[in-house]
Amino acid sequence: MIVGVPKESFPGERRVALVPAVIPNLVKSGLEVVVEAGAGVEAGYPDAEYTAKGAKILPERAEVFRAADLVVQVLCHGSNDKTGEADLPLLRSGQVLIGFLRPLGTLKTIQEIVARGVTSFSVELMPRSTRAQSMDALSSMGTICGYKAVVIAADTLPRIFPMLTTAAGTIAPGRVLVIGAGVAGLQAIATARRLGAVASAYDLRPAAKEQVQSLGGRFVELPLEAKDAEDAGGYAKAQDESFYRRQRELLARVVAESDVVVTAAVVPGKKSPVLVTREMVAGMAPGSVMAAERGGNCESTRPGEKVVEHGVTIIGWFNLASTVPYHASQMYARNISAFLLHLVKEGRLQLNFEDDIVRETLLTHAGEVVNARVREFFSLPALETQSKGGVR
Ligand code: NAD
Repeated sequence: MIVGVPKESFPGERRVALVPAVIPNLVKSGLEVVVEAGAGVEAGYPDAEYTAKGAKILPERAEVFRAADLVVQVLCHGSNDKTGEADLPLLRSGQVLIGFLRPLGTLKTIQEIVARGVTSFSVELMPRSTRAQSMDALSSMGTICGYKAVVIAADTLPRIFPMLTTAAGTIAPGRVLVIGAGVAGLQAIATARRLGAVASAYDLRPAAKEQVQSLGGRFVELPLEAKDAEDAGGYAKAQDESFYRRQRELLARVVAESDVVVTAAVVPGKKSPVLVTREMVAGMAPGSVMAAERGGNCESTRPGEKVVEHGVTIIGWFNLASTVPYHASQMYARNISAFLLHLVKEGRLQLNFEDDIVRETLLTHAGEVVNARVREFFSLPALETQSKGGVR
C-alpha cells in the first residue's frame, strides 16, 4: 500500500504529517511512502532527507492523492476551514484518510468526506489507553502548546520568572496560574517551573491534584465540587452555568495575584467554559499576561490576536503547535506511523472492529458516518451494526 503525505495547506501551517525518520519502519513493513515536494521544508525536513530514507517525492499535490491508498495529513478537511475543501475532489472512493478531522465540529464537513466514499480516521478520537498512548496526537500537540504558551508569556511579561538574589537586590519569582491541568496545562506548569516561576493550577477533576503536585506546582483548592467531574474516557464533563459562575468568583482572587494566567480548560465537543471575565482581567496588575492557549476560557481573548486591556496583555494565538514545527511534526509523525503500523498488516488495511483503537477512531466508512460517539453527538440514529455491537 502507498502512503501519501501532501503538503499542509492551512495558511501558516508549518507542520508535516510524516518526518523522514519514521519512513524506514513503514517501508520495512511493506508500505511505500510518497511525499509532495516541499512538504517538510517549513518544519526543517528537506525533500532530500525523505528520499534518503526511502520515500519518493512527487512534484504535484494531485499526484500524491492519486498515488496514495492512505493519505496522512495534520489538518484535514474539517479541521482546515480555509483550504481543506480544495482537497475533497482529490479524494477518491475507497481511499483512507488519517488526521485531525474535528469530528465534533460540523456534520457538513464529515458528510462531505462520506460523499467521497473515503474511510477516514480521526486522531482526535484516539482512546486514552496505555495501548493507544503512542498514537495519541492530541496529547503530543497539547504538550507542545502548553510549553509554547508559557514561553510566549515569559517573553511578553515585563518581569523575569526566576527568583534572583543579586547585588542589585532580590527579585521575586513570577507567579504563573494554569487553569485546566490536562496534558497542555501540565506541560505549562512544568515549563513555568523550569523557567523558575512559582506555578499553581486549578482543575475540576480531583485526579489532577496529584499530577500538578508531582510537577512541583501548587494545586489551588476551591470550595467547589463538580458534578461527575469526568466521563468514562477521563475527559472533563460540562458543568452548569451556576458552577462556572461560582468558579469565576472563587478564581478571581487567584487570578488577580498572578503575573501570568494560562487558560487550558477544555470540554470535548463543547465551547470552552468562560472562566476569566473582563472584570477579572481588570483586577490583574498592569503588565500581567493572559495566555489563552486554546482561546475560549477568557472573555477578553480575540482569537489570533494579542490585545492589551487595562494594561494586561491577552494573547489569543491559536495553532501554537505549528510554531514549533520541527518537534511537533516529529511527535505527530511518530503517532501517525504507530497508527499506520497498527492498521496495516501484511500490506492490507485491517478493520478489526473488536479493536477499540480502530472502532473509536474510525469516523467514516462505506458511505456512512460510522463512529458511535459522533453519531450520538450529532443526534444521528445508531447504525444497525452498532446495536449489534459492530462499529461502536
Ligand atoms: P482536555 O484537553 O480534554 O482538557 C483540558 C483540561 O481542562 C482537563 O484536565 C479538564 O479537566 C480541564 N477542565 C475542563 N473544564 C474545566 C473547568 N471548568 N475548570 C478547570 N479545568 C477544567 O484534557 P487532556 O489534556 O486530554 O487531559 C485530561 C486527562 O487525561 C489528564 O489527566 C491526562 O493526563 C489524561 N490523559 C491520559 C492519556 C492516556 O492515558 N493515554 C492520554 C491523554 C490524557
